[in-house]
This record gives sequence, structure tokens and C-alpha cells, in this order.
Amino acid sequence: MSPVIPDRLDIAIVGGGLVGASLALALRGSGLQVGVIEAFTPSAPDHPGYDDRTLVLNPVSCNILEQLGIGAALQQYGVPIQTIHVSDRGRFGRAVLHARQHGLEWFGRVIEAWRLGQALLQQVQQDQQLHWLSPLRLEQLQLCEDSIRLQFENAGQAITTRLLVGADGADSRVRELLALPARRHDYQQTAIICNATPSRAHAGTAYERFTETGPLALLPQARQRVGVVWTVTSQQADALLAADNAAFLAGLQHRFGYRLGHFQRVGKRASYPLQLVRAERNTAHRSVLIGNASHTIHPISAQGFNLGLRDAAALAGHVSGATDPGQAALLEAYQQQRQSDQDDTIRYTDNLARLYSNTSSTGRLLRSAGLLAHQWLPALQRRLVLNAMGYRDAVLSGKDHVH
Ligand SMILES: Cc1cc2nc3c(=O)[nH]c(=O)nc-3n(C[C@H](O)[C@H](O)[C@H](O)COP(=O)(O)OP(=O)(O)OC[C@H]3O[C@@H](n4cnc5c(N)ncnc54)[C@H](O)[C@@H]3O)c2cc1C
Repeated sequence: MSPVIPDRLDIAIVGGGLVGASLALALRGSGLQVGVIEAFTPSAPDHPGYDDRTLVLNPVSCNILEQLGIGAALQQYGVPIQTIHVSDRGRFGRAVLHARQHGLEWFGRVIEAWRLGQALLQQVQQDQQLHWLSPLRLEQLQLCEDSIRLQFENAGQAITTRLLVGADGADSRVRELLALPARRHDYQQTAIICNATPSRAHAGTAYERFTETGPLALLPQARQRVGVVWTVTSQQADALLAADNAAFLAGLQHRFGYRLGHFQRVGKRASYPLQLVRAERNTAHRSVLIGNASHTIHPISAQGFNLGLRDAAALAGHVSGATDPGQAALLEAYQQQRQSDQDDTIRYTDNLARLYSNTSSTGRLLRSAGLLAHQWLPALQRRLVLNAMGYRDAVLSGKDHVH
């Protein structure tokens, strides 16, 4: 069914993925007319935002999502991480962090992207003030002095908006149409994701294992399953995707070892080529980029959505209640607030991705030494924990970037 398209909006969010939908919810009660323009219908099997990916949400994100009305879904489906176990395959380094030893109940929660997407969407659709416009694909835009006019690939009617938010992912059409330049780095790696069932209970432990091809994460899920995020070189990915279940499980067992016993079952596999995409500028005339449209990062540190959600929360804080949400001063203030968190998170993740993909003996030695140091030095442990939880160096030094 085609959506009823309004002529005018105060804020048009292009992209109804996890970040765009979160922004819409954060703008509830702002007194502004807000629309989410999404190319896929929510139930589409190939919807890129709401798939089987397993996401680690840090406590800052859990707090934000609770404020957005997603607390019940988080309680029901978000499995708490009580222990983090980091190791290097075939080397001596290892770090094990227990939440309780750090005075915490848990480090974060693990949830499947589609479950979180469903919960966000349900909230958006319940709100009469929010327009969910899908399937609708942005094709062109026209900059006017007090507004932007949006045109669509699959609808004749245009929308005029005072603020355009690009939350349309790594290959953002908004970024392209605004001619905002972006820097790209191809890691030459692919993440393969699936669910698997091991014979031993995971007991709320998240495993990150560094292997010759790249990191392998096993994240605790409901019903004693684990979410697998297996990073391999792009050449190895095709073979792993084509392998039958028994061969795939044998390969996984070989890489991971037997800490969780024997892998018994595996679900559907999907793959993501990994790249860093970073917009060199996030704002333009009456427009702003957030989430993956602004920064697409390696999943090694489980920070991508967490970072995008902080963008959404901060942007809502700046424009809510404004008479004109597209004012340049508001957008500048937003970007100024977000700059250091974005810079730090992207740098931290990129460094980690490069260090842990380094197969040279010096690289591996450095990693092992780093893991040993984390195991024995409380100050380093604290830093690792805070980074994993979404608090950056600024928090360690007392400056809080989290909105
Ligand atoms: C393997 C893997 C594991 C990850 N694990 C974690 C993790 O543990 N923790 C974490 O925080 N992050 C993780 N991430 C990152 C996280 O998944 C992303 O950062 C997050 O989903 C980005 O959301 P988004 O809404 O910005 O973009 P997307 O999910 O890309 O959504 C963009 C939306 O825009 C729509 N769209 C695109 N073009 C148009 C158009 N022209 N018109 C209308 N609509 C359009 C698309 O249909 C889509 O719905 C992981 C990523 C990967 C690949």
C-alpha cells in the first residue's frame, strides 16, 4: 500500500533503519511535524536495517533506548553480558573481565537487529504525530532558501521540509545529493554472521577471539544460542558462505576451540563487506548526516549503532522545540557537540581493526602483550571496560560527551 505523503514537514528523516527510527522517537513531543522516509516496507525480507545481525548495546545506549520506550523489549530480548573473554588464537595473551569485579551488573546487552527494529517501529507507528512513509525512496532534492524539496523514485508527489536528516546508511543518497565528500577505506574483510548452538551454556559470556584472518566474536543469545560475527578475508568469505552446515561448523570449531563445547547447529548465514566510510562534513544547508551515513565503522568494537544512537539523541536535543529546526546555528552546535565522540570512536575502532588484522609476528606479539597487560593491570582493564561500554577517554578524564 502506498503511504499518504504530506506536502510539508518540519523534519524529514531519510532512512528508517535503527538510527533513523530512533531519531523519530526522540523527537516525539517536540511539537514538530516529523516524517521518516524509508525505501523498504518493514516486513520486506531484504530490509537492510532489520536483519539477523547480533548487536551489542552498551549501557549508555540501553538508557537512551529506555527513554525512547524500548525498555520492555530490551528486558525481554536483550541478553546481559556478564563476562567478556578476549583471546588470541594460538598465542599466550588472554583477558577475562567480570562485570561484578567492576561493580556492574552487566557490561551491555545483546539483541538481534530485527528485534530492536521491530520494537522501534512499533513505537513509531503508534504515534499519530510521526509519519512513517514507506516504501518511499529519495531520488532528488532541490535546495531553497527556507526549505529543501524532496522528490522520490516511486511517487510523483514532493515533500518540502525545513530540515533534512540523512540517516540512509553507508551509501547515503542524501550525502551524494548534497555533494558532501566522504573518505573510504576498504578493510578487504567480510563479516559472516549467523546464530549457532554450542553444547555448553554461554553463561552470559561474550567471546572475542583474534585469529589469523581477523576477529571472531561469539555473543550470548536467548535459548543458549550464540550470535557469531566471524571476520575473514574477502576471498575466504565465498568459500565459507558456500560450505554446507557441517563444514561451516567444523571451520568455526577449529577457529574458536572448545570453550563452549561442540557446536551443534547453525542458522542462516549472511555477509557484510567491511569498510570505513566517513563524511568529511556532516552538515550542509538545512541538512545533517547521522549514523552510518555519517560514519560506517568496522564491527570489531561493536560501536556503530551505539555511536549513531548518540548522534540521534544529541540531534533531537538540539532541534526539539526550535521554531526553525533547520537553522545553521543549531546544526553547527549539534556537530560541535558530537565531533570529539565521533572522532574518538572512529579512531579507536579503526586502530583496533588494523591492529587485530595484522598478521605479522610483531603485530601478534603486540596484541598478546596488550591482552596480558589487560589481564593484570587494573587501570588498563578499566579503560577496556569503559571503551567497551561506550565511554571514551573523555569520560575517564571527567568530560562527559554522552548526551
Ligand atoms: C556484522 C556487523 C555487526 C555489527 N555489530 C554491532 C554491534 O554489536 N553494536 C553496534 O552498536 N553496532 C554494530 N554494527 C553496526 C550497526 O549495525 C550499524 O551501525 C547500524 O545498524 C547503522 O544504522 P543506520 O540506521 O545508520 O543505517 P542502515 O541500517 O544502513 O539504515 C539505513 C536505512 O536507509 C534506507 N535508505 C537508504 N537509501 C534510501 C533512500 N534513497 N530513500 C529512502 N530510504 C533509504 C535503507 O533502506 C535503510 O533502512 C554492526 C555492523 C555489522 C555489519
